[in-house]
Amino acid sequence: MILYDLACASGHRFEAALESMRAENPPCECGAPTRRLLSRLNVGGAASAGPSRDDMPNTWHGTGRGNPEVLRGWHQAMTRREKLEEKYPELAGDRRPVLAHEGVFADRPLKAGDDLAPAVSEATFARKSPARPSDAPRPAATNPGGTASATNTRPTTGTTN
Ligand SMILES: [Zn+2]
Repeated sequence: MILYDLACASGHRFEAALESMRAENPPCECGAPTRRLLSRLNVGGAASAGPSRDDMPNTWHGTGRGNPEVLRGWHQAMTRREKLEEKYPELAGDRRPVLAHEGVFADRPLKAGDDLAPAVSEATFARKSPARPSDAPRPAATNPGGTASATNTRPTTGTTN
């Protein structure tokens, strides 16, 4: 049994347990056809699917303004989610999830599966130094309480020519 959240064309939402992912959706009690919201899966009656992509923060503010702890938490949650979706494809949507697309990520959204530290430093670097050659001074660590810069040995190669 798979527990689905359903929504009808009129916006009513309800949940229903279906025999399989191929089962037909029951119609809403208003009579309208329904679609699945892909939000939950009852895996053997025990495991939780964890937060879904719809739960992810989609604003810069929602990430605690790029707070590394917040981003790391979502990164881990979405990494788990991706593995779960490999086993249970009905969980997966057709979207590449975007963790953050505001602030320093306005031009290059942070997506689930991206390496966090390089993504943050690249976005920050691109934001602060739009067209400097590679010997430009590295931006100071601006992460509040951040620990991201300790083990990053990758050279900060710019994307400009
Ligand atoms: Zn309805």
